[in-house]
Amino acid sequence: MSAFLIELKNADLTLGAGSAAVHVLKNMSLSIEAGHSVGILGPSGSGKSTLLMVLAGLERLDRGEVTIDGTALGPLSEDALAAFRGENIGIVFQSFHLIANMTALENAAIPLELAGRRDAFDVARAALTSVGLGERLEHYPGQLSGGEQQRVAIARALAPRPALLIADEPTGNLDGETGRQIADLLFAAQKESGTTLVLVTHDPALAARCDRQVHVRSGEIADDGLKGSDDGHPVQGGRAAE
Ligand code: ADP
Ligand code: MG
Repeated sequence: MSAFLIELKNADLTLGAGSAAVHVLKNMSLSIEAGHSVGILGPSGSGKSTLLMVLAGLERLDRGEVTIDGTALGPLSEDALAAFRGENIGIVFQSFHLIANMTALENAAIPLELAGRRDAFDVARAALTSVGLGERLEHYPGQLSGGEQQRVAIARALAPRPALLIADEPTGNLDGETGRQIADLLFAAQKESGTTLVLVTHDPALAARCDRQVHVRSGEIADDGLKGSDDGHPVQGGRAAE
């Protein structure tokens, strides 16, 4: 079994058809060790969100392979992929993606209910309490601040205890201080449960908090700031010797 939780090999993907076709991922390879945090940076339109969708099994490759925790996603049927995602991958979006007519508790319980967990509401309640929303369980998204809505989304993503947490500009819609609190929460949860965290951000300060920064440009890895010692373990705060 590989030490890598994520192995992306020669990933190639074109989206859209005809004159609207865009070659979004160009022979991209990326391996990420279990338990690490990686910040993905790059200009708008460079393929960052698409890369995350591929890692989450929400977008299929034209060529190449994505393997998560030893499972190659390509050969999986849609149903198998959905089940795998539910068990192994939590996703947080910039715009929260909560269901408006469901309470915070109901929102956080959705993935657990889909997985047939009888304790869905107990686990969701505990997850919401751990992100500081124990007093907001019965609130609807429209009754919550942006930061609180993102906390619900994080609780929903983390409640099934996924091995991989993917976040696409999780602080992009929040003010600076709220964004920092949300980042604190993501990193605390990651450290506590050993989750692998891959996040896209435009904020260099947020990316700098990750073990590693990967720069994407025009569908390619432009710079991979892999910090590592000889034994392959990460060293905080320094680039590997070249
Ligand atoms: P980023 O997140 O880095 O801003 P995206 O991954 O969202 O970039 O998009 C990368 C490129 O792919 C952009 O040029 C975008 O317009 C294009 N693109 C994304 N989705 C589609 C699609 N469904 N059809 C055609 N082009 C797309
Ligand atoms: Mg994007």
